[in-house]
Amino acid sequence: MTDVIDVLKALWDAYGKNRNENQIRVYVKWASTTEVHKLKKVVDIWIGNEKFFPALSDLKSLYASQNKTYADPNNYEDCWYCGGVGMIPSIITKEDHHYITNYGCKCSNAVTTGIQNYFSTFDELEYKEYAEPLREEYTYPQIVDKYLRDVLMNAERRIVEF
Ligand SMILES: [Zn+2]
Repeated sequence: MTDVIDVLKALWDAYGKNRNENQIRVYVKWASTTEVHKLKKVVDIWIGNEKFFPALSDLKSLYASQNKTYADPNNYEDCWYCGGVGMIPSIITKEDHHYITNYGCKCSNAVTTGIQNYFSTFDELEYKEYAEPLREEYTYPQIVDKYLRDVLMNAERRIVEF
């Protein structure tokens, strides 16, 4: 079960930022007034698009703008492809570095602005064979994350070691 603290930790980690207690407290105070799946979506959008760690006001306004479109929490669709975030990750490898890039989903949570649609970009799900056995246990974005860490990154580490 993800809670707002986990979402914030992911944000801090994404920017390699030290967790300054006083600073994090301010974010936690606001985050605890949000809905966790919506907060996660906002954080994921931020991480996917911005080079810099967000000011609290940045998150607040992104959250507000996102929730104009998705005002009704009962409309929230539990979607395996995007994990409810509205975006589907894909891995780009450039010069031995791996990057996550996001595409829009097809569910009711889908992010459609400034982002290409996954299903019109790819003929079929990437990493399909890897994903299939994990389907029950993880959402697709979690599987892509796992694939990046366990398959791509580990393979590189092994190369470095030898
Ligand atoms: Zn979706």
